[in-house]
Amino acid sequence: MLQFETIIIGAGISGLYQLHKCRDELNLKTLAIEEGSDIGGTWYWNRYPGARCDSESHTYGYTFSEKIYKNWTWKEKYPKQNTILKYLKFVEKKLNLRKDILFNNKIISAKYLENKKLWQIKTNKNKIFLTKYLICAVGSLSATNIPNIKGLKTFKGEYYHTGRWPKKKINLKNQIVAQIGTGSSGIQVAPEIAKTVKKLVIFQRTPNYSIPARNKKLTKEMINDYLKNYEKIKKLIKKTPGGHTFSFPDRSVFDFNKIERDKIFEKAWLKGSLAFRACFGDITKNLKANEKASNFIKEKILKIVKDKKIAKILTNFDHPFTSKRPTLNTNYYETFNRKNIELVDLKSNPIIKITKNGIKTKNNDFDFDKIIFATGYDALTGPLLSLNLVGKKKTKLQNFWNKSPKTYLGLMIPNFPNLFIIQGPGSPSVLTNVPVQIEQHVEWITNCLNFLNKNNKKTIEPTINSAKKWSDEIKRLADASLFMKAKISWYKGDNIPGKPKVFIPYPGGLPRYRNICNKVEKNQYKEFLIK
Ligand code: NAP
Repeated sequence: MLQFETIIIGAGISGLYQLHKCRDELNLKTLAIEEGSDIGGTWYWNRYPGARCDSESHTYGYTFSEKIYKNWTWKEKYPKQNTILKYLKFVEKKLNLRKDILFNNKIISAKYLENKKLWQIKTNKNKIFLTKYLICAVGSLSATNIPNIKGLKTFKGEYYHTGRWPKKKINLKNQIVAQIGTGSSGIQVAPEIAKTVKKLVIFQRTPNYSIPARNKKLTKEMINDYLKNYEKIKKLIKKTPGGHTFSFPDRSVFDFNKIERDKIFEKAWLKGSLAFRACFGDITKNLKANEKASNFIKEKILKIVKDKKIAKILTNFDHPFTSKRPTLNTNYYETFNRKNIELVDLKSNPIIKITKNGIKTKNNDFDFDKIIFATGYDALTGPLLSLNLVGKKKTKLQNFWNKSPKTYLGLMIPNFPNLFIIQGPGSPSVLTNVPVQIEQHVEWITNCLNFLNKNNKKTIEPTINSAKKWSDEIKRLADASLFMKAKISWYKGDNIPGKPKVFIPYPGGLPRYRNICNKVEKNQYKEFLIK
């Protein structure tokens, strides 16, 4: 049985950086284990047509190395899935990481051996490893959710989830295709495949607010500009609440009359970015201010979509803008003006079952060649629960989290010594430009391991009390936010039957979170039991 000082689960953006830090900076004997056949995490699995990032390319990546930052050139405002994959391969090569990654192995269980103070890890290929530290770099959106719809097994065509898109080329030409789900993924898939398929029927449960991405090629000047401003950008994205380059102004929606306000909205709409929500400081905080932004988007959709019935379904909002993850699109609403598109409103015409030939709803019987599930994820907790973690005193994570995920800072779990999570539940994670959060987590974990090793400490775990206080803090912040106004939101577990209905990520913003983490480190981890 091979033994390591650190095992990292996952070789995506977080796993790769953590491997570099543990192996090259701390000199720990480290192995990363990856389920896929290559690196990339999210960007390995999400190969669906139209997959792109919503963060601007020059902010979406590692900033820890000036050399790496400046030796890579982003060519578009929003990078495509395979461009990000190429970027990660470029970084992996620079750091020579591949030799310490075991591919094609999925962790099926991880058990803490109290007498040895080691974690025992098992993979689906019957490999068993021991490790002192176990770092879960499993991603927050990697446990795919295919809803349990009656009859799926009887469907004789192929079906796919966007987050596990097959490597083989999928021929959609002349096919009649169903797409269930209209979140970030669905909004990207539909315009892309509508160009090829014979007919696309989109099944929408909740309409989504979407802002045009206005993706474009970066000019030489733009590229030189961001490269020149490396230090500035690196500092800036650490200061803003979401890790983007934009922050929220003091100005209120109500400082302006409708004409002035709409001018500001229009400018942001034409520019295209997640920064639309930061046109005014109160859109994401105050329901009345939020209504102004929601109405502006609604009016835009009504203007773009020619069929009045379809436009009505697309704008039948039941939640405030930004209470669910805002999305960017390229021609999503315009796609509904095509002749080969149909939109089914699941609120009035719900799915009854999937049949051999297609989908039966309350009012219709559809025949399909293929079904695309753009139905999201068992976010944040799902990837960790699937590891079958068993901590001290045989504590099963499934039981310990049965009412709510309990972590301290989203980084560690009481009763699970020496187990670290990158982007765990209880951290800003999915509410941020993710690589910024990842770098902060990897660096915090690395400093913590360094502290333990230097001080000859064997184990660390947070106290139950600190985890409890952290959950209370998340609840307090979430209750005061607009996030809780969404009826069905994966931020609070509503999308998965049986999942605890609590707000999962930390909603206080990255700078505030970073300060708390830094204080904990400076005070030598007083909220933890260290032995
Ligand atoms: P999602 O946002 O959770 O969207 C899932 C969609 O499926 C929603 O429209 C949801 O409806 C629908 N759905 C779920 N279960 C259903 C059911 N049983 N019946 C009918 N409809 C159902 O998932 P996603 O689009 O994959 O995105 C997840 C997250 O990944 C994003 O929020 C984002 O953080 C990240 N992402 C980012 C990008 C990017 O940067 N461009 C792209 C893709 C994903 P309800 O709204 O009613 O639940």
